[in-house]
Amino acid sequence: MSKKILSANFDLPDSHALRVYEETGGYRAIRKILGTPGDEIIEEVKKSGLRGRGGAGFPAGVKWGFVPKDTDQPKYLCVNADEGEPGTFKDRQIMEQNPHMLIEGILICSYAVGIERAYVYVRGEYVFQIQRLAAAIAEAYGSGYLGKNILGSDFNLDVVIHRGAGAYICGEETGLIESLEGKKGQPRAKPPFPAVVGAFGCPTVVNNVETLSSLPFIINEGASAYAAIGTAKSTGTMLFSVSGMVEKPGVYEEAFGVNLVEFIEERAGGVLGGKALKAVIPGGSSAPILTADEARNTVLDYEALAEAGSMLGSGAIIVLSEDVCIVKALQVITRFYSHESCGQCPPCRHGTYWLARIADRIENGRGEPDDIDLLLSICPEMMGRTICVLCDAAAMPTESYVKKFREEFEEHIRLKKCPMDGAPRLLGIE
Ligand code: SF4
Repeated sequence: MSKKILSANFDLPDSHALRVYEETGGYRAIRKILGTPGDEIIEEVKKSGLRGRGGAGFPAGVKWGFVPKDTDQPKYLCVNADEGEPGTFKDRQIMEQNPHMLIEGILICSYAVGIERAYVYVRGEYVFQIQRLAAAIAEAYGSGYLGKNILGSDFNLDVVIHRGAGAYICGEETGLIESLEGKKGQPRAKPPFPAVVGAFGCPTVVNNVETLSSLPFIINEGASAYAAIGTAKSTGTMLFSVSGMVEKPGVYEEAFGVNLVEFIEERAGGVLGGKALKAVIPGGSSAPILTADEARNTVLDYEALAEAGSMLGSGAIIVLSEDVCIVKALQVITRFYSHESCGQCPPCRHGTYWLARIADRIENGRGEPDDIDLLLSICPEMMGRTICVLCDAAAMPTESYVKKFREEFEEHIRLKKCPMDGAPRLLGIE
């Protein structure tokens, strides 16, 4: 039986409305902590083991603890709602179905860290979700949950929505901050990290929508109740976006530790049309691919997927059936990363371009026998050498696709065409 924390209200009529949120215990957590020292809240979140759900999986409470306490500067919260990782579509569900849960999470984080202004940086394409969130923020102001002297306390908080303009790289925390400041959305070299020098040069927490939305449960039920769900190091639940060749694509909440293939079969109805499973991309397009056997032998948590040579990332599970062409899948994702590279770092600017070009010519029957090893020789030159991880995000999957499905690349080159021409495309990111 799946555990529902984040999606518990999703199926209720008018789940986005303040009335429904309050009727189901909403805004109880912020009432509970007002008057409690912020440090105690931070310790509670540390104890819960909550890790960032945007991709990196960094412990949320630890991140908050990096923000300097004795500073005259204002502190900011940047909510990362720039959900752009191909295959990921779970933050939009929260903003659409339960925006007040996110607002209460923003309140808890801001109160704990001493923040009076939060920015929600939302992917520009999420027009409906932005409308839903804006309406919920207006309701929260109208009911005393936002603004000055919240619920009669001396805690003040303003929440501002900032709409992104469609660049994937603005989902990287420093690219997001640059964009928020009105500059070109290019990641910054770190250190300094945003917790010390973030938005407008001030200490800033950057947290993902799902991370913040987990906070009301942690405060209401206690850190130990949250930590008791999932596994020892991957605590709680996650919203998994399941797409690709499955019967029932969608967003499913699950406690960490469930077997990956059983999850696909039980929650998403299994492989489309009863076909055989070829591979699974377990954490968004940046994640190295798992063969069907590897997927059968792993569970969904941060540690197990790292051990399997991949990563949990943003929890986007992309299922590839036997009739999916791996070379075509690589063509699609390398084209995406080449397009989205901001161009600051030569290994990324040139590397992503060449990966895309070589994958494209192999898929289109123009590949040379040396191209496979050429792809493999480029990848190590791209990893760990750039300002942000977009470059690694292109190189890691490329290396895994080529190494694990080399025979498909060889066949394309030998036949001088795609042997699976007409195979379904994945990800919708052409
Ligand atoms: Fe830009 Fe790529 Fe460098 Fe990231 S790695 S800063 S996307 S050029």
